[in-house]
Amino acid sequence: MRTFKASPLIYSITVLCLVFLINIDFLNAFDPFESKRKIMIERDIKGRGVKDIRVLNAMARIPRHLFVDENLRDRAYADHPLPIGEGQTISQPYVVALMTEALKLKSTDRVLEIGTGSGYQAAVLAEIAKEVYTIEIRKSLADRANQRLTKLGYNNIKVKHSDGYFGWEEYAPFDAIMITAAANHIPPPLLKQLKEGGRLILPLGSTFYYQTLTLVTKKKDGTIKVEQMGPVAFVPMIGEIEKKR
Ligand code: SAH
Repeated sequence: MRTFKASPLIYSITVLCLVFLINIDFLNAFDPFESKRKIMIERDIKGRGVKDIRVLNAMARIPRHLFVDENLRDRAYADHPLPIGEGQTISQPYVVALMTEALKLKSTDRVLEIGTGSGYQAAVLAEIAKEVYTIEIRKSLADRANQRLTKLGYNNIKVKHSDGYFGWEEYAPFDAIMITAAANHIPPPLLKQLKEGGRLILPLGSTFYYQTLTLVTKKKDGTIKVEQMGPVAFVPMIGEIEKKR
């Protein structure tokens, strides 16, 4: 009789635990990295001029250490890029914040990212915008990022293994586009898939040395406004773009 009474209770507790376990806030309550994350926000992001509260809140919430290998977790909140395998890197926190802020996202926006990598930048975008579509050309990275983002509960992110040069026609047009690999020109299909009034940010220039962080706004009359935001160093975009050098 006692066993019979206890089972629905045990069942409810199990269900509750499962619901909580996939919630980032729950994970953060037990997170030994919380203080490192706060320092990162204050010193490297706010301290260097990023003001957008939505960007600051997103990055204060996301467990960045879960986007790198276990042996690099201690360094996940330092302000530099880190290796994520296949010779690729997760961008430094300040650059992630700067690029996200520049897109001036609204909560209703649909965003395309080229270069999923670890999935961290996609998570930052997904905390602010409504839907995020992200494309990664290296299959192993695309698969790992997809699994990681699903595990963290991001059901507003779609990951695709493909060459981002061609964008994602099926879900176009996008309110904003971010390219997180160095490109020597803006892929025309991406400009085409950007809404009028939309913003596109990318590291533009030499794919081997430094690039200029460049913000492109597609104005209502169809013309383009270009703003240069300073030097950056990203890993090169590969695939179709290399044929057009
Ligand atoms: N945004 C990532 C870091 C990007 S590193 C993060 O938050 O972790 C740049 C990524 O762009 C690499 O993973 C690389 O494989 C990918 N990439 C390079 N060329 C690409 C292309 N043509 N299409 C899609 N992804 C590409």
